Amino acid sequence: MIIKDYFKNPKLFVAISDIRDGNMSFVWGQSKEVVESRKKFFKKIKIDPKNVVWNHNVLGDRIDVVFSKDRGRGVFDLKTSPENDGFITTEKDLYLATVVADCQVVLFYDPKKEVIAIVHAGRPGVEQGIVPKVIKILTKKFGSKPKDIQIAISPAIKKCCYKFERIDKSLDKKWLDYIEEKDGLYEIDASKRTLDQIKDAGVNTKNVIVDKTCTCCNKNYFSHYRDVTLLKQKDKGRFAVIFGMKK
Ligand SMILES: [Zn+2]
Repeated sequence: MIIKDYFKNPKLFVAISDIRDGNMSFVWGQSKEVVESRKKFFKKIKIDPKNVVWNHNVLGDRIDVVFSKDRGRGVFDLKTSPENDGFITTEKDLYLATVVADCQVVLFYDPKKEVIAIVHAGRPGVEQGIVPKVIKILTKKFGSKPKDIQIAISPAIKKCCYKFERIDKSLDKKWLDYIEEKDGLYEIDASKRTLDQIKDAGVNTKNVIVDKTCTCCNKNYFSHYRDVTLLKQKDKGRFAVIFGMKK
């Protein structure tokens, strides 16, 4: 487990689980084990699970606004999880959690409007523009100005590892701008595409922090690509990213 001070702001809390904390996803493991792993994780990070809302990723671009009434949803079962790829909240002491392995988790904070958001940006999410969609919602519904929005992108697979022998036909054409051919392989730079989307949405890149950690290189993290594509093994699970504004 690691506490991340991406925003250099004591009012915010970001924690990321690692492989020793266990699989955090009900989709990729036994419920009992996931509940145990999550309980231990909350103890370590000193967050009361009653103040957490945990989503069930649908791999699209659905974003929900969550409120105090959503506290505790999805924390110890999948049934009560909001089905979406991201949340927004203005509630203090309400921690937003999601699971991931290789995809980007993008965290948003507007210090002027005191609003935060977290999204799981998988390939479909990037293609559907989930990140600019959050910026649009923050602007339209919460009165944020893009120039005030601060963003952090969690550890994710980087182009050092995200390589394929051929270009998948299901990729949208925009990816071609982010694919480089090297030694007969095609490297995909998903971080760069997300960064460009953020820039196009009017956010100042000096307010954006991209965690340099590659989840495939760094064995502290679960990596779908490492397990399945490289090692031809079973997918071992997902790590958690949790984000909130303290009381
Ligand atoms: Zn790598």
